Amino acid sequence: MPTKPKRPCRYGGCPNLTDSKTGYCEEHRSLMQRHYEHFARGYNQHERYGGSWKKIRDRYISAHPLCEMCLGLGRATVATLVHHVKPLSDGGTNDESNLKSLCVSCHEKIHKRKKPS
Ligand SMILES: [Zn+2]
Ligand SMILES: [Zn+2]
Ligand SMILES: [Zn+2]
Repeated sequence: MPTKPKRPCRYGGCPNLTDSKTGYCEEHRSLMQRHYEHFARGYNQHERYGGSWKKIRDRYISAHPLCEMCLGLGRATVATLVHHVKPLSDGGTNDESNLKSLCVSCHEKIHKRKKPS
């Protein structure tokens, strides 16, 4: 029985041979695993950020349960989302002064009005 051909480790400059599916020798396999975990942690930080916006939004909407635009027109409509008065992409923040509770139809109106014609 011929033994499986060994290939050089994929890690640049490593003299070891390996028959592992990963292409790395034993030594570098664990190194690459650590790299991968480091990378995965980066994603979790992103999730944490997303989680905090959800918290801010939930807190804001429970303090302002009615659509603020409808209220201005003397109507009471349950707000279903929190709108950024100044979009985050435009330098806006998650600060309460930049937030508005809106119902879906008012939210659509605001965004349509802002669209360049
Ligand atoms: Zn190696
Ligand atoms: Zn509304
Ligand atoms: Zn919006």
